[in-house]
Amino acid sequence: MPVLVMKFGGTSVATLDRIRRAAKRVGVEVSKGYDVIVIVSAMSGKTNELVGWVNETSPLYDAREYDAVVSSGENVTAGLMALTLQEMDIPARSWQGWQVPVKTTAAHSSARIEEIPPANIMSKFGEGMKVAVVAGFQGVSPEGRITTLGRGGSDTTAVAFAAAFEAERCDIYTDVDGVYTTDPRVSAKARKLDKIAFEEMLELASLGAKVLQTRSVELAMRYKVKLRVLSSFEEQSDEAGTLVCDEEEIMESNVVSGIAFSRDEAKMTLVSVADRPGIAAAIFTALSEGGVNVDMIVQNISEEGRTDMTWSCPVDQTKRAEKAMDEAKAAGTINFNELIADTDVAKVSVVGIGMRSHTGVAAKMFQVLSNEGINIKVITTSEIKISVLIDRKYMELAVQALHDAFELDKAA
Ligand code: ADP
Ligand code: ASP
Ligand code: MG
Repeated sequence: MPVLVMKFGGTSVATLDRIRRAAKRVGVEVSKGYDVIVIVSAMSGKTNELVGWVNETSPLYDAREYDAVVSSGENVTAGLMALTLQEMDIPARSWQGWQVPVKTTAAHSSARIEEIPPANIMSKFGEGMKVAVVAGFQGVSPEGRITTLGRGGSDTTAVAFAAAFEAERCDIYTDVDGVYTTDPRVSAKARKLDKIAFEEMLELASLGAKVLQTRSVELAMRYKVKLRVLSSFEEQSDEAGTLVCDEEEIMESNVVSGIAFSRDEAKMTLVSVADRPGIAAAIFTALSEGGVNVDMIVQNISEEGRTDMTWSCPVDQTKRAEKAMDEAKAAGTINFNELIADTDVAKVSVVGIGMRSHTGVAAKMFQVLSNEGINIKVITTSEIKISVLIDRKYMELAVQALHDAFELDKAA
């Protein structure tokens, strides 16, 4: 039997009614003759609640116990989904990550999937089971401890299963009906895309569009998984939603195909550090060892042998960054006057593979922001994206103005 992977996100399994609705969708695919692997998220809000409990109990928590707690939301929905399917007379059972097993690295709270041996589930399909319901977002480390894959990780579970089982398709059911030119909750003019190239989706995801976890897009690209995003709230046809595919499969696309944003950023500046070989290495090694995920970096001009170094990182990591810099100063590895943290910034990015062959996108982007009176604090670019850091209060305005200026509401 051909295998199909269907993933249901948090809002799609938020209540027993919604689980029933999702199960009906699964039933439709079973009746077409598929063996189905269903990947479920925790009920919406559940993972946040669990993370909150961990933080309240132990602010500098043991990541292994964080994973033990935070993975549990998916166990509940997996069991409930299996029960719902059984009530519909569809042979189904649930699996937690360790039971499959979903083998991951030991990087707790952001583990990577290394292997999913299909034998266990395949033998059950052989015995007549029609649906394997698997708890998303979780796996087991080489030491036998429960791991989680980072927020939004059920998408990655789904794509990894699709690759391991050579599934015909991986359908990601969510609360929007596809991938849009930008988050439809921020711009009413956002337009649904029928297709988007892997590279573009990868950039959008890593720049903040949470509709797919970045790692899931990477895996789909590497293993050539046919990946589709669609709504769990509407009747669906085989053409519904957005197909994430190879660039070659897309006939026409705009120069800029999407806008992503990341709301909770911080900009930090180390004032007056010695401008000498090795200083950047010293600063960013200390930050990395302190668990800070640095994104953008700017080294300002040097005067009398001293310079300012600016970087951005997630706003909830500013305390860690301050601690790392204070410790490095105390140890004498870095000398600086002060560390300034601007915790009210957001990152807005325009993305498009058309930028490879078109010039002027950056100039236009900066002009649009200037017309709106928005000051740019940091800029970074790559072959297919331009990102700017701006005051958080202007984020929505920037996204909408850029969406208008690049005419993303119109198809190419
Ligand atoms: P799920 O719980 O199903 O995994 P998520 O909340 O993780 O759902 O992702 C879906 C959300 O992603 C949407 O509700 C939407 O607000 C957001 N989103 C951000 N950027 C985009 C985009 N470009 N296209 C569609 N949705 C987007
Ligand atoms: N429940 C997890 C989260 O909220 C994983 C997921 O939904 O993909 O991050
Ligand atoms: Mg998600």
